[in-house]
Amino acid sequence: MTHLLSGFPPALVRRLVVKIGSALLVDPAGQVRTDWLRTLVADVAARKTAGQQVIIVSSGAIALGARRLGLPKGGRGSLEDAQAAAATGQIALSQCWASLLHERGITAAQMLVTLDDLENRRRYLNASATLERLMALDVVPVVNENDSVATAEIRFGDNDRLAARIGQAARADAVVLLSDVDGLYTANPHADAGAMRIETIERIDARIMAMADTGSASGMGSGGMVSKVEAARIATGAGAHLAIISGKVDAPLTRWAEGGPGSIFLAAPGQGARKGWLAGRLTTRGRIIVDAGAERALGKGNSLLPAGVAQVEGVFARGDVVDIVTEDGRVIARGLVEYDSEAALRIAGRRSEDIAGILGEMPRSVLVHRDHMAMV
Ligand code: GLU
Repeated sequence: MTHLLSGFPPALVRRLVVKIGSALLVDPAGQVRTDWLRTLVADVAARKTAGQQVIIVSSGAIALGARRLGLPKGGRGSLEDAQAAAATGQIALSQCWASLLHERGITAAQMLVTLDDLENRRRYLNASATLERLMALDVVPVVNENDSVATAEIRFGDNDRLAARIGQAARADAVVLLSDVDGLYTANPHADAGAMRIETIERIDARIMAMADTGSASGMGSGGMVSKVEAARIATGAGAHLAIISGKVDAPLTRWAEGGPGSIFLAAPGQGARKGWLAGRLTTRGRIIVDAGAERALGKGNSLLPAGVAQVEGVFARGDVVDIVTEDGRVIARGLVEYDSEAALRIAGRRSEDIAGILGEMPRSVLVHRDHMAMV
Protein backbone atom coordinates (compact mmCIF):
# COMPACT_ATOMS: atom_id res chain seq x y z
CA MET A 1 0.00 0.00 0.00
CA THR A 2 1.51 3.29 -0.99
CA HIS A 3 1.23 6.22 1.34
CA LEU A 4 -1.22 9.07 0.84
CA LEU A 5 1.77 11.34 0.36
CA SER A 6 3.19 9.15 -2.39
CA GLY A 7 4.19 11.41 -5.26
CA PHE A 8 3.97 14.44 -2.94
CA PRO A 9 0.73 15.65 -4.59
CA PRO A 10 0.31 19.44 -4.96
CA ALA A 11 -2.87 19.24 -2.87
CA LEU A 12 -0.90 18.08 0.18
CA VAL A 13 2.54 19.50 -0.55
CA ARG A 14 2.47 23.19 -1.35
CA ARG A 15 6.20 23.79 -1.48
CA LEU A 16 8.62 21.13 -2.70
CA VAL A 17 12.41 20.91 -2.92
CA VAL A 18 13.69 18.58 -5.65
CA LYS A 19 17.33 17.48 -5.47
CA ILE A 20 19.06 16.03 -8.50
CA GLY A 21 22.34 14.14 -8.13
CA SER A 22 25.38 14.45 -10.40
CA ALA A 23 25.06 10.96 -11.90
CA LEU A 24 21.58 11.81 -13.18
CA LEU A 25 22.54 15.15 -14.66
CA VAL A 26 25.84 14.35 -16.27
CA ASP A 27 26.65 11.30 -18.40
CA PRO A 28 29.96 9.43 -18.11
CA ALA A 29 31.34 11.45 -21.03
CA GLY A 30 30.76 14.66 -19.07
CA GLN A 31 27.76 15.92 -21.05
CA VAL A 32 24.50 17.13 -19.55
CA ARG A 33 21.76 14.50 -20.02
CA THR A 34 19.56 17.10 -21.68
CA ASP A 35 16.85 14.74 -22.95
CA TRP A 36 16.24 13.32 -19.49
CA LEU A 37 16.46 16.74 -17.88
CA ARG A 38 13.81 18.03 -20.26
CA THR A 39 11.41 15.35 -18.97
CA LEU A 40 12.10 16.41 -15.39
CA VAL A 41 11.53 20.07 -16.26
CA ALA A 42 8.20 19.04 -17.82
CA ASP A 43 7.34 17.42 -14.46
CA VAL A 44 8.24 20.63 -12.65
CA ALA A 45 6.15 22.70 -15.05
CA ALA A 46 3.14 20.41 -14.54
CA ARG A 47 3.45 20.74 -10.78
CA LYS A 48 3.68 24.50 -10.97
CA THR A 49 0.55 24.55 -13.08
CA ALA A 50 -1.12 22.45 -10.39
CA GLY A 51 -0.18 25.10 -7.81
CA GLN A 52 2.95 23.58 -6.28
CA GLN A 53 6.00 25.77 -5.66
CA VAL A 54 9.25 24.09 -6.62
CA ILE A 55 12.85 24.73 -5.57
CA ILE A 56 15.60 22.80 -7.34
CA VAL A 57 18.84 21.75 -5.70
CA SER A 58 21.15 20.72 -8.50
CA SER A 59 24.49 18.95 -8.29
CA GLY A 60 26.64 18.40 -11.33
CA ALA A 61 28.95 21.41 -11.38
CA ILE A 62 32.06 19.44 -10.44
CA ALA A 63 31.28 16.55 -12.79
CA LEU A 64 30.62 18.91 -15.72
CA GLY A 65 33.60 21.16 -15.05
CA ALA A 66 36.01 18.27 -14.55
CA ARG A 67 35.30 16.99 -18.02
CA ARG A 68 35.69 20.39 -19.61
CA LEU A 69 39.01 20.96 -17.88
CA GLY A 70 40.23 17.39 -18.44
CA LEU A 71 40.80 16.86 -14.71
CA PRO A 72 41.40 13.36 -13.33
CA LYS A 73 39.17 11.58 -10.76
CA GLY A 74 36.09 13.46 -11.89
CA GLY A 75 37.60 16.67 -10.52
CA ARG A 76 37.61 15.33 -6.98
CA GLY A 77 41.33 14.54 -6.77
CA SER A 78 42.08 17.64 -4.69
CA LEU A 79 40.20 20.57 -3.21
CA GLU A 80 41.75 22.94 -5.77
CA ASP A 81 40.63 20.70 -8.65
CA ALA A 82 37.11 20.44 -7.22
CA GLN A 83 36.90 24.21 -6.86
CA ALA A 84 38.15 24.89 -10.38
CA ALA A 85 35.81 22.22 -11.76
CA ALA A 86 32.87 23.64 -9.82
CA ALA A 87 33.55 27.18 -11.04
CA THR A 88 33.73 25.99 -14.65
CA GLY A 89 30.83 23.57 -14.43
CA GLN A 90 28.47 25.83 -12.52
CA ILE A 91 28.18 28.38 -15.31
CA ALA A 92 27.27 25.65 -17.79
CA LEU A 93 24.89 24.07 -15.32
CA SER A 94 23.00 27.31 -14.70
CA GLN A 95 22.82 27.99 -18.40
CA CYS A 96 21.30 24.60 -18.94
CA TRP A 97 18.66 24.98 -16.20
CA ALA A 98 17.79 28.51 -17.29
CA SER A 99 17.24 27.53 -20.90
CA LEU A 100 15.27 24.32 -20.19
CA LEU A 101 13.01 26.10 -17.68
CA HIS A 102 12.64 28.97 -20.14
CA GLU A 103 11.38 26.53 -22.77
CA ARG A 104 8.45 25.95 -20.40
CA GLY A 105 7.95 29.65 -19.75
CA ILE A 106 9.52 29.44 -16.27
CA THR A 107 12.04 31.98 -14.95
CA ALA A 108 15.03 30.46 -13.15
CA ALA A 109 17.08 32.06 -10.36
CA GLN A 110 20.47 30.86 -9.14
CA MET A 111 21.49 30.66 -5.49
CA LEU A 112 24.93 29.40 -4.47
CA VAL A 113 25.34 28.86 -0.75
CA THR A 114 28.02 27.60 1.60
CA LEU A 115 27.48 25.65 4.79
CA ASP A 116 28.21 28.79 6.79
CA ASP A 117 25.41 30.69 5.04
CA LEU A 118 22.92 28.32 6.61
CA GLU A 119 24.67 27.69 9.94
CA ASN A 120 24.91 31.35 10.85
CA ARG A 121 21.47 32.34 12.05
CA ARG A 122 21.44 35.84 10.52
CA ARG A 123 22.61 34.60 7.10
CA TYR A 124 20.21 31.67 7.34
CA LEU A 125 17.34 34.09 7.84
CA ASN A 126 18.62 36.09 4.86
CA ALA A 127 18.67 33.05 2.60
CA SER A 128 15.24 32.17 3.87
CA ALA A 129 13.90 35.63 2.99
CA THR A 130 15.39 35.44 -0.51
CA LEU A 131 13.77 32.06 -1.13
CA GLU A 132 10.46 33.41 0.13
CA ARG A 133 10.66 36.38 -2.22
CA LEU A 134 11.55 34.20 -5.19
CA MET A 135 8.55 31.97 -4.44
CA ALA A 136 6.29 35.00 -4.32
CA LEU A 137 7.67 36.08 -7.71
CA ASP A 138 6.85 32.67 -9.15
CA VAL A 139 10.45 31.96 -9.99
CA VAL A 140 12.16 28.55 -9.70
CA PRO A 141 15.34 28.85 -7.63
CA VAL A 142 18.16 26.52 -8.68
CA VAL A 143 20.46 26.04 -5.70
CA ASN A 144 23.90 24.50 -5.41
CA GLU A 145 26.73 24.63 -2.96
CA ASN A 146 29.21 27.41 -3.71
CA ASP A 147 31.96 24.85 -4.15
CA SER A 148 34.41 27.23 -5.81
CA VAL A 149 34.96 29.12 -2.56
CA ALA A 150 33.98 26.63 0.13
CA THR A 151 37.00 24.90 1.65
CA ALA A 152 36.85 21.37 3.04
CA GLU A 153 35.98 22.53 6.58
CA ILE A 154 33.10 24.74 5.54
CA ARG A 155 31.52 22.51 2.92
CA PHE A 156 28.33 20.53 3.05
CA GLY A 157 30.11 18.18 0.68
CA ASP A 158 26.91 16.57 -0.47
CA ASN A 159 23.77 18.11 -1.86
CA ASP A 160 21.46 15.75 0.08
CA ARG A 161 21.96 17.61 3.32
CA LEU A 162 22.06 20.92 1.46
CA ALA A 163 18.62 20.11 0.02
CA ALA A 164 17.28 19.35 3.48
CA ARG A 165 18.66 22.60 4.88
CA ILE A 166 17.23 24.54 1.93
CA GLY A 167 13.89 22.83 2.54
CA GLN A 168 14.06 24.03 6.10
CA ALA A 169 15.10 27.58 5.14
CA ALA A 170 12.27 27.74 2.61
CA ARG A 171 9.75 26.20 5.03
CA ALA A 172 9.08 23.57 2.38
CA ASP A 173 6.50 20.88 3.05
CA ALA A 174 8.61 18.18 1.45
CA VAL A 175 11.97 17.34 -0.10
CA VAL A 176 12.48 14.72 -2.78
CA LEU A 177 15.91 13.30 -3.53
CA LEU A 178 16.21 11.94 -7.06
CA SER A 179 18.80 9.25 -6.83
CA ASP A 180 20.29 6.25 -8.60
CA VAL A 181 18.44 4.05 -6.10
CA ASP A 182 14.69 4.04 -5.62
CA GLY A 183 14.59 4.14 -1.86
CA LEU A 184 15.98 2.83 1.40
CA TYR A 185 16.51 -0.93 1.49
CA THR A 186 16.85 -3.30 4.44
CA ALA A 187 20.18 -4.42 2.92
CA ASN A 188 22.26 -3.61 -0.17
CA PRO A 189 19.89 -4.43 -3.06
CA HIS A 190 22.81 -5.08 -5.44
CA ALA A 191 24.33 -7.68 -3.14
CA ASP A 192 21.39 -9.22 -1.32
CA ALA A 193 18.40 -10.68 -3.21
CA GLY A 194 16.32 -10.59 -0.03
CA ALA A 195 16.75 -6.81 0.39
CA MET A 196 13.41 -5.04 0.71
CA ARG A 197 12.56 -1.41 0.11
CA ILE A 198 10.93 0.37 3.03
CA GLU A 199 7.93 2.41 1.87
CA THR A 200 7.44 4.63 4.88
CA ILE A 201 9.78 5.53 7.73
CA GLU A 202 8.19 7.14 10.74
CA ARG A 203 11.23 7.40 12.94
CA ILE A 204 14.93 7.44 12.16
CA ASP A 205 16.50 5.13 14.72
CA ALA A 206 19.66 3.05 14.92
CA ARG A 207 18.04 0.30 12.82
CA ILE A 208 17.35 2.73 9.96
CA MET A 209 20.84 4.23 10.20
CA ALA A 210 22.32 0.73 9.96
CA MET A 211 20.32 0.02 6.80
CA ALA A 212 21.72 3.19 5.24
CA ASP A 213 25.24 1.82 5.40
CA THR A 214 24.97 0.46 1.88
CA GLY A 215 26.35 3.18 -0.43
CA SER A 216 25.47 4.66 -3.81
CA ALA A 217 27.61 3.05 -6.47
CA SER A 218 27.65 5.82 -9.08
CA GLY A 219 31.06 7.24 -8.11
CA MET A 220 30.13 10.68 -9.48
CA GLY A 221 28.30 12.37 -6.66
CA SER A 222 29.35 12.31 -3.06
CA GLY A 223 26.14 11.44 -1.24
CA GLY A 224 25.56 7.79 -0.41
CA MET A 225 22.58 6.48 1.53
CA VAL A 226 24.06 7.66 4.82
CA SER A 227 23.95 11.29 3.71
CA LYS A 228 20.38 10.75 2.45
CA VAL A 229 19.21 9.46 5.82
CA GLU A 230 21.10 12.30 7.47
CA ALA A 231 19.21 14.68 5.15
CA ALA A 232 15.98 12.96 6.15
CA ARG A 233 16.81 13.56 9.80
CA ILE A 234 17.26 17.30 9.13
CA ALA A 235 14.17 17.64 6.93
CA THR A 236 11.81 15.63 9.11
CA GLY A 237 13.09 17.43 12.22
CA ALA A 238 12.16 20.68 10.49
CA GLY A 239 8.66 19.45 9.75
CA ALA A 240 9.16 18.45 6.11
CA HIS A 241 8.66 14.99 4.62
CA LEU A 242 11.54 13.58 2.61
CA ALA A 243 11.41 11.01 -0.16
CA ILE A 244 14.10 9.07 -1.98
CA ILE A 245 13.02 8.04 -5.46
CA SER A 246 14.76 6.87 -8.58
CA GLY A 247 15.76 9.44 -11.14
CA LYS A 248 16.82 6.74 -13.58
CA VAL A 249 13.52 6.98 -15.42
CA ASP A 250 12.10 9.73 -17.62
CA ALA A 251 9.65 12.14 -15.94
CA PRO A 252 10.60 10.75 -12.50
CA LEU A 253 8.15 12.87 -10.49
CA THR A 254 5.21 11.81 -12.65
CA ARG A 255 6.30 8.18 -12.54
CA TRP A 256 6.41 8.29 -8.77
CA ALA A 257 3.05 10.04 -8.54
CA GLU A 258 1.58 7.28 -10.70
CA GLY A 259 2.63 4.61 -8.24
CA GLY A 260 6.35 4.21 -8.87
CA PRO A 261 8.64 3.06 -6.06
CA GLY A 262 10.15 5.26 -3.38
CA SER A 263 10.73 5.62 0.36
CA ILE A 264 9.12 8.40 2.38
CA PHE A 265 10.44 9.65 5.71
CA LEU A 266 7.52 11.30 7.45
CA ALA A 267 7.91 14.73 9.06
CA ALA A 268 8.31 14.66 12.82
CA PRO A 269 5.64 16.41 14.84
CA GLY A 270 6.69 20.08 14.96
CA GLN A 271 9.38 21.36 17.29
CA GLY A 272 9.04 24.88 15.87
CA ALA A 273 11.22 26.48 13.23
CA ARG A 274 13.94 27.82 15.50
CA LYS A 275 14.37 24.50 17.26
CA GLY A 276 14.37 22.71 13.91
CA TRP A 277 17.15 25.00 12.72
CA LEU A 278 19.14 24.19 15.84
CA ALA A 279 18.66 20.46 15.52
CA GLY A 280 19.58 20.51 11.83
CA ARG A 281 22.86 22.33 12.28
CA LEU A 282 25.91 20.43 11.15
CA THR A 283 28.53 22.31 13.14
CA THR A 284 28.67 23.15 16.83
CA ARG A 285 31.26 24.99 18.89
CA GLY A 286 31.55 22.75 21.88
CA ARG A 287 30.17 19.91 23.95
CA ILE A 288 28.60 19.91 27.36
CA ILE A 289 28.71 16.49 28.97
CA VAL A 290 25.81 15.92 31.35
CA ASP A 291 25.02 13.35 34.04
CA ALA A 292 22.07 10.95 34.08
CA GLY A 293 19.97 13.25 36.24
CA ALA A 294 20.33 16.12 33.77
CA GLU A 295 19.52 13.76 30.88
CA ARG A 296 16.25 12.83 32.60
CA ALA A 297 15.46 16.49 33.30
CA LEU A 298 16.07 17.48 29.66
CA GLY A 299 13.89 14.59 28.53
CA LYS A 300 11.06 16.09 30.55
CA GLY A 301 11.50 19.44 28.79
CA ASN A 302 13.53 21.26 31.45
CA SER A 303 16.45 23.65 30.94
CA LEU A 304 20.03 22.52 31.53
CA LEU A 305 21.33 23.68 34.92
CA PRO A 306 25.04 23.88 35.72
CA ALA A 307 24.53 21.28 38.47
CA GLY A 308 24.00 18.51 35.92
CA VAL A 309 27.17 19.25 33.95
CA ALA A 310 30.02 16.78 34.26
CA GLN A 311 32.41 18.30 31.72
CA VAL A 312 32.73 21.15 29.23
CA GLU A 313 34.67 20.74 25.98
CA GLY A 314 35.64 23.27 23.32
CA VAL A 315 35.95 27.04 23.22
CA PHE A 316 32.67 28.87 22.76
CA ALA A 317 31.11 32.24 23.40
CA ARG A 318 27.73 33.02 24.93
CA GLY A 319 25.09 32.43 22.24
CA ASP A 320 27.08 29.77 20.37
CA VAL A 321 25.52 26.43 19.57
CA VAL A 322 26.74 23.48 21.64
CA ASP A 323 25.97 19.79 21.69
CA ILE A 324 24.65 18.33 24.91
CA VAL A 325 26.12 14.88 25.29
CA THR A 326 25.71 12.04 27.82
CA GLU A 327 28.69 10.59 29.63
CA ASP A 328 28.63 7.60 27.26
CA GLY A 329 28.88 9.91 24.25
CA ARG A 330 25.30 10.16 22.95
CA VAL A 331 24.31 13.60 21.60
CA ILE A 332 20.87 14.20 23.12
CA ALA A 333 20.28 17.88 22.48
CA ARG A 334 21.65 21.01 20.93
CA GLY A 335 21.21 24.52 22.18
CA LEU A 336 22.36 28.10 22.45
CA VAL A 337 24.59 28.36 25.50
CA GLU A 338 24.12 31.15 28.06
CA TYR A 339 27.76 31.30 29.24
CA ASP A 340 31.10 31.24 27.45
CA SER A 341 33.21 28.11 27.82
CA GLU A 342 35.48 29.56 30.48
CA ALA A 343 32.57 30.51 32.75
CA ALA A 344 30.78 27.24 31.94
CA LEU A 345 33.84 25.30 33.15
CA ARG A 346 33.87 27.20 36.42
CA ILE A 347 30.21 26.63 37.21
CA ALA A 348 30.03 23.04 35.94
CA GLY A 349 28.58 20.77 38.61
CA ARG A 350 27.68 23.69 40.88
CA ARG A 351 24.26 24.73 42.12
CA SER A 352 22.60 27.72 40.43
CA GLU A 353 22.58 29.68 43.69
CA ASP A 354 26.38 29.43 43.83
CA ILE A 355 26.94 30.97 40.38
CA ALA A 356 26.98 34.58 41.56
CA GLY A 357 29.58 33.74 44.22
CA ILE A 358 31.82 31.95 41.70
CA LEU A 359 31.58 34.37 38.79
CA GLY A 360 30.85 37.60 40.61
CA GLU A 361 27.67 37.93 38.60
CA MET A 362 24.80 35.72 37.55
CA PRO A 363 23.31 36.75 34.21
CA ARG A 364 21.38 33.46 33.89
CA SER A 365 20.54 30.64 36.29
CA VAL A 366 20.57 28.05 33.51
CA LEU A 367 23.36 26.99 31.17
CA VAL A 368 21.07 26.26 28.22
CA HIS A 369 17.48 27.44 28.37
CA ARG A 370 14.81 25.00 27.21
CA ASP A 371 13.45 27.60 24.74
CA HIS A 372 16.82 27.62 23.03
CA MET A 373 17.33 23.89 23.01
CA ALA A 374 16.25 21.14 20.66
CA MET A 375 16.33 17.46 21.53
CA VAL A 376 17.94 15.41 18.74
N1 GLU B 1 27.85 20.51 -5.27
C1 GLU B 1 28.45 19.45 -6.01
C2 GLU B 1 28.38 19.74 -7.51
O1 GLU B 1 27.62 20.53 -7.94
C3 GLU B 1 27.80 18.12 -5.80
C4 GLU B 1 27.74 17.64 -4.39
C5 GLU B 1 27.19 16.22 -4.36
O2 GLU B 1 27.77 15.35 -5.00
O3 GLU B 1 26.15 16.00 -3.72
O4 GLU B 1 29.06 19.14 -8.28
